[in-house]
Amino acid sequence: MLYPWNPLASKYTGPAFMPFEDLHEYCGIFGIFGHPEAANLAYLGLYALQHRGQEAAGIVSTDGKTLHSHRAMGLVADVFDEDVLKTLPGSAAIGHVRYSTAGSSVLRNSQPIIAEFARAIGKDGNGRKADYGAVAVSHNGNLTNAGPLRQELEANGAIFQSTVDSEVILHLLARSKESTLIAKIADALPRVEGAYSLLFLTESALVAVRDPYGFRPLVIGDLDGRTVLASETCALDLIRAKYVREVEPGEVIIVDEKGMRSEKPFAPAPKRPCVFELIYFARPDSNAFSHNVYESRRAMGARLAKRHPVKADVIVPVPDSGVPAAIGYAQESGTPFHLGLIRNHYVGRTFIEPQQSIRDFGVKLKLNTVRHLIEGKRVVLVDDSIVRGTTSRKLVTLLREQGAKEVHMRIACPPTTNPCFYGIATPTKEELIASKMTVDQIRDYLAADSLGYLDVEDMLGTLEDKNFCTSCFTGNYVVPPVDPAAAGRMGS
Ligand code: AMP
Repeated sequence: MLYPWNPLASKYTGPAFMPFEDLHEYCGIFGIFGHPEAANLAYLGLYALQHRGQEAAGIVSTDGKTLHSHRAMGLVADVFDEDVLKTLPGSAAIGHVRYSTAGSSVLRNSQPIIAEFARAIGKDGNGRKADYGAVAVSHNGNLTNAGPLRQELEANGAIFQSTVDSEVILHLLARSKESTLIAKIADALPRVEGAYSLLFLTESALVAVRDPYGFRPLVIGDLDGRTVLASETCALDLIRAKYVREVEPGEVIIVDEKGMRSEKPFAPAPKRPCVFELIYFARPDSNAFSHNVYESRRAMGARLAKRHPVKADVIVPVPDSGVPAAIGYAQESGTPFHLGLIRNHYVGRTFIEPQQSIRDFGVKLKLNTVRHLIEGKRVVLVDDSIVRGTTSRKLVTLLREQGAKEVHMRIACPPTTNPCFYGIATPTKEELIASKMTVDQIRDYLAADSLGYLDVEDMLGTLEDKNFCTSCFTGNYVVPPVDPAAAGRMGS
């Protein structure tokens, strides 16, 4: 299939197209080198990172001779069991948990992806000699020029196995004329733009790469002298690995039998980690970008209370994501905090509705009120963010139905006005409620008595580092997307 991409034009000019069914990675990655139980530990690491992707999981291990792989759709607990883990021998492994939007939720799009190619070209006595071998890759992020790159590669004969953007990286590696894997990585990766935290595994090495802006997190841990790499520190905690440091933006870490070394092959760029990891995505028990996630959310909630105070009887979080911010709001305002909404943690992706339709069945299945905490009360409902506005609207209605006297909505981040191009799955701009309504209009839409957000300055004011990517709030894209299909979408 041909796509209306003109390689001579500096940007895409045709109608919206989707060379990849889904360009939207929203994932967790884990790697370990030099441990006799590598696959088992990768399995545990992925367990800790499950919140970063629930649709598919995979592990590739190596015994020094070949790569062994298992990938399947579903949660880590469903994909792996003892028998499967026995098929993943060796002392090094990488893993991946994946979130994707509907349409591309297929096994061939799950990761790690493996490719075989002439990995290194050396010289022997008779001339050039190729070292063929396999490379596996796990990717967290989103490439903003993957569509055009794929078209260019396909025009030159490349055959793609999947519809994920990460496969482009493997094609570019395979085509590089450099003679070692590290040199190929340094040669190929400057061609891809956008967000990538990557783990590569060969029979003899584990390589980690973070894009020069450092959009997505990636940390290094130490487990009794063995190197561990993970999207978040909560994965290190689970296996009792010590946190060492972050992989720096633009850094390549190579781990092999000689130990660990670091290279900085890319042109330097301003550091721009994703602030939304701190707001919503990362686990509160993780440290991301040198910030504790829980404390960041609590501080944002406290700032929200200063910025948008209101006389109330109770502060209620939207569970689970709004809890730390609501605690911060309650502490700062001196108003009692209560779990007035309770989440059912066992709701699956689909459910059968009774024939006699029940209003707001979906939200009621997930969340119910502790009625006496709400009835007759002035309630401040705190959430981390509003995306489409549908959840908040239903929750305000639910609280009123349960007898709340007033409902004041407080959001511990700025209005989300723009889609993310760097790996957080969000809806299109049109579907983001704050892109088309003012705060007052949103308040009316939610039927709340009042609505208050943090502004960007206030939000950054709570954080030690100020150099975050805030493009979903400002529309100032650090790396301009050349591929219109590269914006993240939010799954159901
Ligand atoms: P909405 O009803 O679309 O406004 O959804 C708001 C809820 O979605 C909030 O409780 C957020 O915690 C949560 N949320 C925020 N960003 C995302 C995202 N990228 N993917 C899934 N859920 C999100």
